[in-house]
Amino acid sequence: MARVKALVAGNWKMNGAKASKKEVTALAKKLAGKAKPACDVLICPPATLIATLKESAKGSKIAIGGQDCHAKESGAHTGDVSAEMLKDAGAAFVIVGHSERRADHGETDAAVRAKAEAAHRAGLTAIVCVGETEAERDSGATLKVIRGQLKGSLPDGATAKTTVIAYEPVWAIGTGRTPTPDDVAKVHAAIRKALEARFGAEGTKMRILYGGSVKPSNAAELMTVPNVNGALVGGASLKAEDFWGIISAYA
Ligand code: PEP
Repeated sequence: MARVKALVAGNWKMNGAKASKKEVTALAKKLAGKAKPACDVLICPPATLIATLKESAKGSKIAIGGQDCHAKESGAHTGDVSAEMLKDAGAAFVIVGHSERRADHGETDAAVRAKAEAAHRAGLTAIVCVGETEAERDSGATLKVIRGQLKGSLPDGATAKTTVIAYEPVWAIGTGRTPTPDDVAKVHAAIRKALEARFGAEGTKMRILYGGSVKPSNAAELMTVPNVNGALVGGASLKAEDFWGIISAYA
């Protein structure tokens, strides 16, 4: 198994205001302390806060990312933000295909792929989310669904540097429920296999994050599952104290 540096990424969703920069400052202070976690750290705030938080994160190891981008570089797309704009504001990553976007905005695998391509075009690392619904899980379709989403959402030519996968079972997001470590291991092994089959050596090194109700109390167990190379964290990333509790799984 290739050695892959973990990434712990926070997805603030539609939360946060300028005052939230105090959380970034607090986290930066913790990261500068004695415990040096062996993982990269990323915060994806709403687009309105990218520039502000980039400034707050200056001099620290915290990277800043977007939560979504349009596939086009610019144009008549009211309300949308392009990957180039995110980059210009200070982002290094962008999440694409989050289940909330797939559900709330009807984003198809093809749309997610176009967004991941846009991220690559702009020089951003795309975090491509996949995950089954509870009904799909109950019908035994989890691996089929995940393989289909990977096939349709990942651009050809994706590399370990440009692309991160996040496995987020939809039923585990924001619910406090998580799959067993065994279940996570099975899905992540299947994802790794699919990545290796399609991307060869790059596929062995691509980071596969687990997301869905990760918190300080379960992070250590989930982060030691084979082929789990970090976490995508929603609710527990909003407060520096909680997020640090998850990052510390790598200390
Ligand atoms: C997410 O939305 O990406 C997520 C994992 O949320 P939570 O950690 O709150 O379940």
